Amino acid sequence: MESSVEMIKNRLSIAEVIGSYLKLEKAGVNLKARCPFHNERTPSFFVSPERGTFHCFGCGKGGDIFTFVEEIEGVEFKEALKVLAERSGVSISKENGNYSGTGRLRAVLLEAVDFYKRNLNTSAEANKYLEDRGVKQTSIDKFQLGFSGVGWRELSEHLIRKGFSSVDAERVGLVVKSSKGYYDRFRGRIIFPFFDLGGRPIGFSARVLPGVTEDSDKYGKYINSPETSLFHKSKVFYGIKEANIAIRSLDKTILVEGQLDVILAHQAGVENAIGVSGTAFTTDHISVLKRLSDNLLVVLDADEAGFRASEKVVRMVLSVGMNVSVVALPKGQDPAELIRVDCELFKSTLNKELPFLDYALALVRDGYKDNSKRENAIRSYLYPVLADTYNEIEKDRSLQDIANLLGVAPDASRRDFEKWLSLHKNAELATRFVVPTSGQKSIPPPLEMVAGRLFGIASMLEQSKDENESALSAKILQDLNSVLGQNTFSALSEKYKNEKREDIVFEVETQYPDRFVLPNETKVLLERLRREVHKFQFSQAIDELRMAEADDDEERVAKSLLKCQEISKKLSQP
Ligand SMILES: [Zn+2]
Repeated sequence: MESSVEMIKNRLSIAEVIGSYLKLEKAGVNLKARCPFHNERTPSFFVSPERGTFHCFGCGKGGDIFTFVEEIEGVEFKEALKVLAERSGVSISKENGNYSGTGRLRAVLLEAVDFYKRNLNTSAEANKYLEDRGVKQTSIDKFQLGFSGVGWRELSEHLIRKGFSSVDAERVGLVVKSSKGYYDRFRGRIIFPFFDLGGRPIGFSARVLPGVTEDSDKYGKYINSPETSLFHKSKVFYGIKEANIAIRSLDKTILVEGQLDVILAHQAGVENAIGVSGTAFTTDHISVLKRLSDNLLVVLDADEAGFRASEKVVRMVLSVGMNVSVVALPKGQDPAELIRVDCELFKSTLNKELPFLDYALALVRDGYKDNSKRENAIRSYLYPVLADTYNEIEKDRSLQDIANLLGVAPDASRRDFEKWLSLHKNAELATRFVVPTSGQKSIPPPLEMVAGRLFGIASMLEQSKDENESALSAKILQDLNSVLGQNTFSALSEKYKNEKREDIVFEVETQYPDRFVLPNETKVLLERLRREVHKFQFSQAIDELRMAEADDDEERVAKSLLKCQEISKKLSQP
């Protein structure tokens, strides 16, 4: 039997539902509009009447008519169901009254934010600490800062009194279960809530309050919410809700480190600042950044260590074609401290931003006086970054600057770089995108981009009534499977056929308005994919070789060496 949800979906068209809120324009097979969920001038909000879905490339929101009504009316699923049932004339049966648990989890988080906020009002020590760090009341309100009391069950008991279940509180990471029952995760700490782009709380970071926190030796200066169904550390940024509008209107994101850096930057009027705050930088972070703006400014420490620390992030960002510039703060200063002491100096420093490659070149110019030392420094600082840079014009400009600095013809620096590249290409590939902690390597972004595009084309053509198109779709999946290998294929297909499906299908629909180019385009993409896979395999083989060498296992060394040579041969074929 059809559920009421399906009945409603069959009776109401998505164009009609969304069209009653927004003005939709035609865009190929789809419709588009300016997104109602974020501030934008050019439309990046797409609706597919055929699939009954919507997706915004700007803020990443998407879903069906129910999600849309939930988002735009600010209601939960149950309420959205009621609204749409009335509109379609479908009566709701009891089975649907029981909505998903996400709404309840969000309610627990909201209650906790309020609880911590009220606590902060009554803690003189916590307020004094924030005041000493230069945080004003307006910022406390804007970022909804809070405080957790030192007791073991203050929040737990409050939530129970409010009718929430401890199981839900545990699922969002607020309480911890022990043999004696539930206790509060954060005790005696300043609370910094994390929000999603829609402004909903998803998790927390909690900082020690000197003289108050009792577990600082055991847990350290900051503790964060654990990974939950709403809090994903691989893609969260602190301050993204507060910075969202400024980032879009300025078309630039400023990346700083800690929560206090973000808060004080906003307080100084720099409202497009966000922070990575303590979590490792991942390719998911890059996707989030790329959606916000193509321009990134990284604030770093002035010395070589600062350069080295940010180099990995910068190379990852450059490899997806974003523009990265940097500013260096005076030695030994973090942004929060500098703003507190001299706000104007901080702002004037931001104005001295340099494209990353220019900055690296300036480091070389100032740090080394004679040419042969400069040449070596250029090879070790700039060439690896250049090798990862996606933007060819940027690359070319930088090679000209290098030639100018060394006083040689532009051709000479280009040839030197090419030579370096051919010598280091494979070794370079091996050191790139290595996940240092786990033994397993993550899939490199260029490989994933090409594969994602192919999955998108396959999904777009899957339901086509044209036999040639549905056959092409099946063929693409088959080829993907054989090129990627079973494991990588399963991992990526899980992602692109489910979680990211809408994202990627809307993208290819926009990319290829004329479908007749697709057979040829898929051939080109598959060729690129094959190359990326070989590069990836090569870096894995090099790792195996290193491990075998470390173990002094001659047989394995010989085997891995052979493997490296084989892949290397494939790579050198045009
Ligand atoms: Zn949007």
